[in-house]
Amino acid sequence: MKLTFLGTNGWYDTDTGNTICTLLETKDFYIIFDAGFGFSKLDKYITEDKPIYLFISHLHIDHVCGLHCLPKFKFKQKLTILGSKKTKKYLKKFLNHPFTASSRELTFKTDFIKLRPGHYKNPFRFVCLKLDHADYTLGYRIELDGKVIAYCCDTGPCENDYKLAQDADVLIHECALLPGEKDSWGHTSPDDVAEIAKKSNVKQLYLTHFAAHSYLDLKKRNEAEKVAKKIFPNTTATEDGLVVNIDKKTDKNKFACNPLDKIFITQEFGVWPEHYAKYDMKGHNGIDFRTKFDDSPDGKREVYAVLDGKVIECRNKDTGGYGKYVKLEHTSGAQTVYGHFDKVSVKLDQKLKAGDLLGISDNSGDSTGSHLHLGYRPAGFDYGNGYKGYVDPKDLLL
Ligand SMILES: [Zn+2]
Ligand SMILES: [Zn+2]
Repeated sequence: MKLTFLGTNGWYDTDTGNTICTLLETKDFYIIFDAGFGFSKLDKYITEDKPIYLFISHLHIDHVCGLHCLPKFKFKQKLTILGSKKTKKYLKKFLNHPFTASSRELTFKTDFIKLRPGHYKNPFRFVCLKLDHADYTLGYRIELDGKVIAYCCDTGPCENDYKLAQDADVLIHECALLPGEKDSWGHTSPDDVAEIAKKSNVKQLYLTHFAAHSYLDLKKRNEAEKVAKKIFPNTTATEDGLVVNIDKKTDKNKFACNPLDKIFITQEFGVWPEHYAKYDMKGHNGIDFRTKFDDSPDGKREVYAVLDGKVIECRNKDTGGYGKYVKLEHTSGAQTVYGHFDKVSVKLDQKLKAGDLLGISDNSGDSTGSHLHLGYRPAGFDYGNGYKGYVDPKDLLL
């Protein structure tokens, strides 16, 4: 199951992002929450002919404006739009001349399902409930492939917010307000969202729908994430293009902490065999992560130990390969290596807890730009596996 954040702004588009649209890809369906201008990128992500279900929360323009891009799409499958009775009434008018092409002119079939608050079983189990917003708004809770995904946008904190979020694997929640801010229109601040996530016992929280006029850059989103994390640590402030794999195995097989506070994979495990032949390997023996963000334009970010363990190798000189790097052995016997640092801040034999600082990322060694390389060898690894014992650690990330 994969979540892709196509638009993460509230109200209007800025350089920071498009207006709200989130794509959830499951085994059998494409599910979309809202259709702000992020919706215009959808055709890049819909690559199979699984049916598409679009859940509209409400009719505020930033949640429906992307629908006028429908004529650009050449889907083979049907698009079903779900929303309140009012949503159907007004979208029928909006998705027509003189605003845009009529649905009859599209090359694919569309359908509309009217929803009242309640529980539904088809085409999959979901719940919709009324939220607290200036105009009639529905929040959603979807149960599919053994996961629960809740989507609450736009809303102020309310009872139904909690009902939708209760024990969810993933809560996608609006964060239009700045930390500590309140409004009467029905929006939420990062601190209030984090409280909801904590009290509802959700596993992972994604903040989205950052109001364009308040969140002027990604740095501001980062600050919101920090505030939320103090209350609910498993919080991520989203940005356009963020992709999250939510197929988690059992938690005990996972890392206890991610190596960076922001996870963007730039190079997967096993790629680029020509380059790695010189190291006698079949391909890239780890995962590379982006380290250049708005709040770290030079690519220098803190790198953390992913599990408890001790330092078995570290080098604070750039002599090629991983450059300045740290290698840890964990309690289970697994090993992790972190490469291309600017500065290593641990010593040989030092004992560490998951989340402890290892150093600052950069571009030392065999590297063409600032990034973090993470390699993972499971306990009892096979050195002759073509990757010197390393395996793909992607599923272990949180
Ligand atoms: Zn909105
Ligand atoms: Zn709204």
